[in-house]
Amino acid sequence: MAIPPLSEQELIQQYGPHLNYEPPGGWLAEHEPDRLVKTHCCFCGVQCGIQLKVHNEKVVGFEPWEDFPVNQGKLCPKGVKRYLQNNHPDRLLHPLIRTDNGFREADWDDALSLVVEHIQRIQATYGKDAFAVLSGASVTNEKAYLMGKFARVALQTANIDYNGRLCMVSAGAANKMAFGIDRVANPWSDIPLTQLVLVTGSNIGECFPILTDYLWRARDNGAKFIAIDPRMTPIARTADLFLPVRPGRDSALMNGILHVLIEHDWIDHDFIDAHTKGFESVQKAVAEYTPQMTAEISGVPAASIVRAAEMWAEAEKSMLLHARGIEHHTKGVENVLSCINLVLATGRIGQPGCGYGTITGQGNGQGGREHGQRCNQLPGGRDIENPQHREEIARTWKVNESELPHVGLTAVELMDAVNAGQIKGLLSLSFNPLVSLPDTKLTRAALEKLEFYAAIDPFMSETAHYADVVLAGSLQEEDEGTVTNGEGRVVRIRRAVPPPGNARADWEIIVDIAHRLGKELLFPYAEPEDLFRELCRASAGGPVDYAGLNYTKIEQHNGVFWPCPSREHPGTPRLFEGGEFAHPDGKAQFHPVTYRPPDEDVDATYPIIMTSGRVVSQYLSGTQTRRIGPLVDQYPGPQIELHPRLAEQHDIQSGDMVCVESRRSSVTLPALVVRTIRPDTIFIPYHWPGEQAANRVTNRALDPISKIPEFKVCAVRLRKVKAGV
Ligand code: SF4
Repeated sequence: MAIPPLSEQELIQQYGPHLNYEPPGGWLAEHEPDRLVKTHCCFCGVQCGIQLKVHNEKVVGFEPWEDFPVNQGKLCPKGVKRYLQNNHPDRLLHPLIRTDNGFREADWDDALSLVVEHIQRIQATYGKDAFAVLSGASVTNEKAYLMGKFARVALQTANIDYNGRLCMVSAGAANKMAFGIDRVANPWSDIPLTQLVLVTGSNIGECFPILTDYLWRARDNGAKFIAIDPRMTPIARTADLFLPVRPGRDSALMNGILHVLIEHDWIDHDFIDAHTKGFESVQKAVAEYTPQMTAEISGVPAASIVRAAEMWAEAEKSMLLHARGIEHHTKGVENVLSCINLVLATGRIGQPGCGYGTITGQGNGQGGREHGQRCNQLPGGRDIENPQHREEIARTWKVNESELPHVGLTAVELMDAVNAGQIKGLLSLSFNPLVSLPDTKLTRAALEKLEFYAAIDPFMSETAHYADVVLAGSLQEEDEGTVTNGEGRVVRIRRAVPPPGNARADWEIIVDIAHRLGKELLFPYAEPEDLFRELCRASAGGPVDYAGLNYTKIEQHNGVFWPCPSREHPGTPRLFEGGEFAHPDGKAQFHPVTYRPPDEDVDATYPIIMTSGRVVSQYLSGTQTRRIGPLVDQYPGPQIELHPRLAEQHDIQSGDMVCVESRRSSVTLPALVVRTIRPDTIFIPYHWPGEQAANRVTNRALDPISKIPEFKVCAVRLRKVKAGV
């Protein structure tokens, strides 16, 4: 007699999420939620508000949070599906210790004792700096602050850095140099007030999708839109003027546009005289960037360069926005400074609808770079080599200033130091360098050389596979805290559910390790709010001042913009009003930029430029999004985008397997022939590991100031391997 199969409902009841199958409406969505928790999307820097549905201490779905002003209920594909990571069967539920036969489950005492034993052994044998810390820019402000203090006070190592080093640091460095402060100048609500938006190196529609809505609102109000990009990205397809720049030539193009503005005297002399310094040096530097010369370097027609300058001049209000497209370069800081020069020369800053900013990529890309988890930084955006800043933080932390380490190595340098045998031990939090660092082969070699490696992660990342101990940490919805979105608005992350199984909140793990290292009195935290109170105190009077913030105030106002130096202060949505900048003399500083070529330019052997970036359904190294089925369905794996002309030259059609070779390694992926890319350039998204990793071929060369790698340009050649089926 035939055995009746289990019904769908019975299957769900019996196997739950282990079916790895999403019933209509999401996991357990047929249940009424016990509660709705107002929090934020865990992915990009827009930090959209979302309400998570909780049933039986599990996140089972979401509702729009329409009152939150940034996204007003709207979410992109990643935001809509983010809740599916919560009950995912891959979730780490216990600490794991490596054995000869793979990982075994362990209890916390065994796992943390092992971590502490190896920290002490390595530091006693090789010195304090031989143990390093790598942290993330998706973590809350509280965790970013804790990681910086943990490294300097509990480990006393100089070597801590974070994965924002691969993201916003070029913009951050340029902002500090030009304005004296590192924050986007305007709230995004200024975008619909402008008459012209110039977006360069930013695939807004895929990387920060909800920001697209602000651009549409500006367009509805009559604004014009200029897009600069080697690819005609979805947002660029709607532009009034599109400048298809050759990768790595951005500063030349900006110099060329400024050249035309100066030539026609379309600049703001009153603003320059009253509020800036150094214009003459920039005027001199751009004098040779005629439209013809700029066209030769950048590949953008001279007439388009002139037209961009005309459009900027015709608008009374304009905003310039950029992202990693101009920042991921060995001259990322110079590229950003060339944009700032244009904004300052025309006085387009510090007013409603007039301004400038980088679009932050990571969820806490802004806050993650403010509170001391960078190798050169102390909390409050302070400089680790500034004697006064060191004294201020030493007082807050109740340690001697002389005990604080000095500047350490940046993320890529740190991995190179592992390879060179100078760093022997590593603790990482939410950082997946095996996927996200350039030149995967070197990163893998470094991981294999570590004497001890402990990784804190909610999922087993590709890098965590190399760990000796994996500590099961928390997802964003499993902890309290704050995040600072791309506008500089500090928002509240609320705990919706506890970490599952034996997993723990990340901050508890770090504090536990600090206690086991004998630093109980210096890490006296019972909850994340204790950390936030100390963070705000530590930031008081610093370049990044959160002193007037607390959880209640942030919740009452749906987020508060820093600087917020006192309890009575309402926060600062728009910076530089009245032309008042953050340098001691109140003036903005021009910086002349002379174009220089990429570290690795094309030649006869490697004649094609490769550039890399993101797709809408995936996020960074993919640790979270590559596990969410509906997002994988949208874009199952990386493809090589190339122009029909280049494809024809190599006899390639969409679907053919194509090998991309650089001086470092190669990657073989299916081709996608598109008309939306320059014929001299190919594009590969970087979210995938192993044989599919774009970073197998990318270049590890660094910007000399920001130390960001040149992800956006390397020289490659193509070879068709197999015809598609
Ligand atoms: Fe909003 Fe970014 Fe999340 Fe999309 S990924 S929902 S744009 S925060």
